[in-house]
Amino acid sequence: MEIRVLGAHNCERQSQKMVSLLIDDVLAIDAGSITSSLSLEGQKKIKALLITHQHYDHVRDIPGLAMSLFLGGGAIRVYSIQAALDVLAKHFLNSEIHTDFRRKPETNPTLSLTALEPNKAVTIEGYGVLPVPVSHGVPTVGYQVTSGDGKSVFYTGDTGPGLEECWRRVKPQLLIIEVTSSDRFAGWAGESGHLAPSLLKQELASFQKLNGYLPPVVAVHMSPNLEAEIAAELAAVAEELECSITVAKEGMEISI
Ligand SMILES: [Zn+2]
Ligand SMILES: [Zn+2]
Repeated sequence: MEIRVLGAHNCERQSQKMVSLLIDDVLAIDAGSITSSLSLEGQKKIKALLITHQHYDHVRDIPGLAMSLFLGGGAIRVYSIQAALDVLAKHFLNSEIHTDFRRKPETNPTLSLTALEPNKAVTIEGYGVLPVPVSHGVPTVGYQVTSGDGKSVFYTGDTGPGLEECWRRVKPQLLIIEVTSSDRFAGWAGESGHLAPSLLKQELASFQKLNGYLPPVVAVHMSPNLEAEIAAELAAVAEELECSITVAKEGMEISI
């Protein structure tokens, strides 16, 4: 399984983009920076897009991707939990904000939305996909994606502390988890459904206790202005827990 980090942040500037991951060129998770990262051919290769929740930094590119695919002769299936799809359909993917590509073209529309049930595994484009609830301000799921040859990654999406139930349901070989702020703002992070390094440390300790191991960890969704602090604090956490924690960057490729 080849995982490419298209966007690793919660907001953007010239060299930093909002969060998106791409697995083996065909399965994308979250849509903060798909169109700005990929050629039209790259966009057309994506068959399915998994959305963790409806916040802007995770869905921003869906309308633009749909327009690009419509003009370029492609189509895409978008998957998420019903609560997120309802909000997207009502406020974002409608004919008021942009063309409604759920109805265009009339036969075989460019965009289709499919609801997933939390904690129910499905097969999408040959991958096992397990949506698992995490702890955020709105209903949010992380995704464990497992390839045909048994390689698996779990990406949390946005989450705050309290992942014990989630950890009981996943056993990934790679964990991609959000770390939005540095420890100076850990109180704010926890209250707003995000993590800081000290909070991540508690969650990783909980994972290890429940599952008996710690996979390599990749941090995403960093606030760009806090990234240097976050990276230094994560290095200390990695040393204390004797595990690998990598701060993701745009364009990073990870093989598992
Ligand atoms: Zn969010
Ligand atoms: Zn976010």
